[in-house]
Amino acid sequence: MNINLKQYEVWFVTGSQHLYGPETLKAVAVHSQEIAKVLNASSAIPVKVVFKPVMVSPDAITELCQSANNAAKCIGLITWCHTFSPSKMWINGLKQLRKPVAHLHTQYNRDIPWGTIDMDFMNMNQAAHGDREHGFIWSRMRLSRKVVVGFWQEEATQEKLGAWTRAAAAWADWQTAKFVRFGDNMREVAVTDGDKVSAQMKFGFSVNTHGVGDLVKVVNAVSEKEVDALFKTYADIYDMTADLKKGGKRHKSVRDAARIELGLEEFLTAGRFKGYTDTFEDLHGLAQLPGVGSQRMMAAGFGFGGEGDWKTSALVRAMKVMASGLEGGTSFMEDYTYHMQPGNKLVLGSHMLEICPSIADGRVSLQVHPLGIGGKADPARLVFNTPAGPALNASLMDFGNRFRLLINEVDVVAPEHSMPKLPVAQAVWKCRPNFEDACAAWIYAGGAHHTGFSQAVTTEMLEDFAAMAGIEVVVIDADTKLRQFKQELMWNDVAYGLKSGWAA
Ligand code: MN
Repeated sequence: MNINLKQYEVWFVTGSQHLYGPETLKAVAVHSQEIAKVLNASSAIPVKVVFKPVMVSPDAITELCQSANNAAKCIGLITWCHTFSPSKMWINGLKQLRKPVAHLHTQYNRDIPWGTIDMDFMNMNQAAHGDREHGFIWSRMRLSRKVVVGFWQEEATQEKLGAWTRAAAAWADWQTAKFVRFGDNMREVAVTDGDKVSAQMKFGFSVNTHGVGDLVKVVNAVSEKEVDALFKTYADIYDMTADLKKGGKRHKSVRDAARIELGLEEFLTAGRFKGYTDTFEDLHGLAQLPGVGSQRMMAAGFGFGGEGDWKTSALVRAMKVMASGLEGGTSFMEDYTYHMQPGNKLVLGSHMLEICPSIADGRVSLQVHPLGIGGKADPARLVFNTPAGPALNASLMDFGNRFRLLINEVDVVAPEHSMPKLPVAQAVWKCRPNFEDACAAWIYAGGAHHTGFSQAVTTEMLEDFAAMAGIEVVVIDADTKLRQFKQELMWNDVAYGLKSGWAA
């Protein structure tokens, strides 16, 4: 995948004041530098951590916030008050700050030196109350931030910061992202539609349509030589039956698919798009619905949503950014079919074609089969299973007065049966807390049938991401109780109604 998180930095900012004198401030700076260095080197934190001089005045804080806003590489601040930093000094800066913040509540010294502790030690290590003053101003100003509590050398602390940096990277990525739709939404479908103006105001990314003919033009301009080369790549990586290979009866279907993939790649790259949608209802001039092409574009890091689903395309892209460098894949997904055997209730997730091979378990085969809808030639697609293990499905819906991010934690199970006649990639999972409550909660929450599925992205990352966006997030996990969940939805409706008005 082509998403480099090391291009991003978070700034490590220590709050203090002049009260302590230069000697103490010098020591504070040395300690902060040491912490920043350790966080920067931590394998749990995928972005650079950059030390910034200790903040001792309102002007310095305001200037810092302004430069953070203007620094393209800076995706957020980690703040910490080793000593005491009076929070009125922060008001003007925080009023302007537009980058996400993690407030790290830690202490330079892990242990109290019981035998030698004196007032000098107390004055140097006062995060326990300095960070409370810092927390107040964020709460008083109703500003969103993540609070991470823990000793800075502990892995769990670094992992919490790491999850936040992954969310911040995805958030930064969205601020300049463009998504292209080839054709509109699938006719009459509600949940995949929504307000693209609201979305751009809230999320930063733009969504615009190109007639599929614009893509067709690029597809048709692909040279035979390029198609030859991509076919060779397919043949090297994927299992294929003889009739799909050179000289085979259905070889042309695979070449048509390769040509579409090359056209998609060229169109997306030239237009600097980070994802796209297509729809089987609008394929004029394309030989097939893009199958293997969309699967491989996703594997390359692009967002994708079927049937014009631009929200899921954007979400899949964001999840790709969060997951960069982690074990486990991320894909567009749809809850397709259930197995309702007592004691072993399962969901089979798949799509008509477009599941990302980053979630494949072992060998992937390239196959050509008819598609019941769309009226086009038989599309080529990659077929595979998904490995067992924890995963989640996330879905983004437009509720008129707000967006809701819905997450269900699930456990993928190893296939118990082969499905020789199912010509699509798929994953089979058990829902948490259980099939009935998870599905009921999902449906009460108005969750879409389309999701971003991931075995790398965590609920924590998505919660941090939703906080950065300032949107509602609702989680269905092992602890979900349906009665409480329904109440949470009702309270959220009231809260967002009060915050942003009631939707018609
Ligand atoms: Mn679909």
